[in-house]
Amino acid sequence: MSIFSELKQAVTRNIDRMTGSGAQYTDVRWYQDDSSEMLVMLDGNLEGNDTSAESGLGVRVLYGGAWGFAATSRTADVDSCFDRAMSNAVSASKLVKVRLDMGSKLGHTGSYTSPHQVDPIDVSLSEKVDFLRSVDESLTEDWILRRMLRVQFQRMIIHFWSSEGTYTMKKLINTFAHMTALAMDTDHQMQRRSKTLVCETGGTRGWEMLTNPALWSGHAERVKKELKEILAAPELEYGTRSVILLPGQGHLQVHETIGHPLELDRILGYELSYAGGSFVNLDSFGKLKYGSDKLNVSAYGSIVNSPGTFGFDAEGTPERDYLLIDKGVLVNCLTSRAMISEANQRAGREVFTESGGASRSTSFYRAPIDRMTNVNILPGPDGTLKDIIKTTEDGIIVDNPTSWSIGSNREHFHFGCEIAWEVKNGEITRVLRNPSYQGHTVEFYNNLSAVGDQSTWVVEQVENCGKGEPNQVMELGHGVPVIKFDNVISGERK
Ligand SMILES: [Zn+2]
Repeated sequence: MSIFSELKQAVTRNIDRMTGSGAQYTDVRWYQDDSSEMLVMLDGNLEGNDTSAESGLGVRVLYGGAWGFAATSRTADVDSCFDRAMSNAVSASKLVKVRLDMGSKLGHTGSYTSPHQVDPIDVSLSEKVDFLRSVDESLTEDWILRRMLRVQFQRMIIHFWSSEGTYTMKKLINTFAHMTALAMDTDHQMQRRSKTLVCETGGTRGWEMLTNPALWSGHAERVKKELKEILAAPELEYGTRSVILLPGQGHLQVHETIGHPLELDRILGYELSYAGGSFVNLDSFGKLKYGSDKLNVSAYGSIVNSPGTFGFDAEGTPERDYLLIDKGVLVNCLTSRAMISEANQRAGREVFTESGGASRSTSFYRAPIDRMTNVNILPGPDGTLKDIIKTTEDGIIVDNPTSWSIGSNREHFHFGCEIAWEVKNGEITRVLRNPSYQGHTVEFYNNLSAVGDQSTWVVEQVENCGKGEPNQVMELGHGVPVIKFDNVISGERK
């Protein structure tokens, strides 16, 4: 019998055993393969090559309104893993104040594979190093002090079974890359310009994504040119002006001040580490004017080749397309099924009806929590970047973060960026260095005055979103157009 058939039999038998012992619900995730590889090249030398391969089983049992979780990497240990999960749930059930309920769902089956041509884990190390060397060469100049390349690959094959009869299988492939060039400006301050690998509309997620020059390596010349312009540029002066975010910066803005505060577990007061609170509460939904009428934010967003697209979440729920913010009004959140009953019980009414397909776990030995999937600002009616510049009297265009500081409830923020282009009376006038801007989240989004069209929309990748204790580093995507905000405090007061 194959390992899959053997395991399936053991899992099915144990799920029935848990139900027979009074479990309300049981689910199992088997990571048949969880492989990753990271390469770091510094000034043309391979500084790091970390690989990992894991495999194992994670079991959740809901009993007496409380969760129990256990995991094992030994497939011979399946029975005792279920017993430990049940025993944890029984202990927790004596302590919980709100009794959880998964509701009832009909079982379903499905599978999902990330679109890819060449599995990046299978590409030889020498081919990877040769490719990175060629990118490094294109970044080399005698005035550049540091060149950094970092690439990361993932391959996961995950099976899921639940006591409702659901079975899903997903094969996920991810490819991430960053290039950064650093040089000293006239004040002896280090300046940087970087480029992150982005998703191609309708494209794939394999090795071929990395080697497509349009998505990453072909930007080396621009990175160098812009770094040189930064070195000779004057500093941005403190003041209130319009700020236009390119997607390289806009995606972080969305991540920190829309994505994280809309995770339901944070809204309920869990995950308070890592600036983990939220200014949003259960009464905010359907009422809070989060932003101007131009702000439309979706979760998932039908992006086939983003790291936030995985077919089925860690509860087997199919990912779906839905709005979080509709014409500026907050309408929904990022949630698993597991959190909905607690939220509705605490609110004393039905605030949420359906899982957002946002239950995610970083490995077989971590219990799933509410995560971002693809949190996107939808394209708007205000044309191209050029069109938006034309209607700007006094502003700056900024790209890529250098620093970020965020309020513990995500109510305010302060970001530094790599580069700014000054805009006066509808035209770009010069490059400025050390740009920064800050704001109060709701006030800032209510000052959203222009949203670029589809041609400005880029799906940016995030591979290192941290959340949870123990920490779970997660990958996701943000589709973001060019966005303009008015009356923004920018630059630093001297
Ligand atoms: Zn994050």
